[in-house]
Amino acid sequence: MQGLILALKNKRQVKDGMNYIIFRTTKLNNMKKQIERIIQKPVRPGMVGDGFRVYNYIPGAGIAQQRMSPFLMLDFNAAYDFGASDHIRGVGVHPHKGFETVTIAYKGSVAHHDSAGNSGVINPGDVQWMTAGSGILHKEYHEENFSKKGGVFEMVQLWVNLPKKDKLTKPHYQSLTKDNIAKVQLPGNAGEVNVIAGVFNGTKGAATTYSPLNVYDIKLNKEGEVKIDLPAAYNTALLMVNGSAVVNDETAPEHSFLLFKNEGEQVIIRATEDAVILALSGESLNEPIASYGPFVMNTQEEIIESINEYQAGKFGVLV
Ligand code: MN
Repeated sequence: MQGLILALKNKRQVKDGMNYIIFRTTKLNNMKKQIERIIQKPVRPGMVGDGFRVYNYIPGAGIAQQRMSPFLMLDFNAAYDFGASDHIRGVGVHPHKGFETVTIAYKGSVAHHDSAGNSGVINPGDVQWMTAGSGILHKEYHEENFSKKGGVFEMVQLWVNLPKKDKLTKPHYQSLTKDNIAKVQLPGNAGEVNVIAGVFNGTKGAATTYSPLNVYDIKLNKEGEVKIDLPAAYNTALLMVNGSAVVNDETAPEHSFLLFKNEGEQVIIRATEDAVILALSGESLNEPIASYGPFVMNTQEEIIESINEYQAGKFGVLV
């Protein structure tokens, strides 16, 4: 926007400050975010343990961690029917340090245990927001009965970076349930927006976050439309979890990932069939990222320190 205004000033199309302000105000109110890239679902899923069959979009599909800061990682277990199992499917004990893991359950149930003695189950519509902070061990798996019976499992795991000053915060959880996540009904039976974090049209999200960001679980009925206003500078993307839509005049197929340019404020989504869409938008932390597996710090020295702490058992004990 700044560039455009300067260009116009240079062309002498805007002669005085008053016109300039009016022009700017008018344009800001209806400037759509342009789509930078539409990324199709990666060809092959990867397995995390034997319970999470995930397509990786950040950073695996070419979206650098810094580009989507503060969102570091996005694994999407697209709807998949896991058969009945005689053991509990999942991923065994592993550490995390320096960021937050956010698990969004769409279908199926996920259970967890950690080295601080916490455990729980998240069911469809629930979100587990875990701040790994200074370091924790945990394991994640299908809830026992779900695993035994099998069924359709659909889930997203996001990693959200912590600002440098908060990386060593004490590990803790926010259990966001279907019932305590604010739900905004859209006019004209268009659908609903579940505000997981941030704010949507004045409605505050359930999660407390360490930096400004928005996470919305959007459910649209066929032909339903939603208009979202997000700051131009925020790194912004959509994941088409289910169904397809037209987004700012471009076609967004099922399972695609839309990355927006850091210009414009408005995202208009019109569903071409019943659709479930995850919207992510956040202010870049603008800090160095040193990333090694489950440790995300600011420098290589801090990564080595983290590995040493883990090997020395400083993240606690979990069997
Ligand atoms: Mn984990």
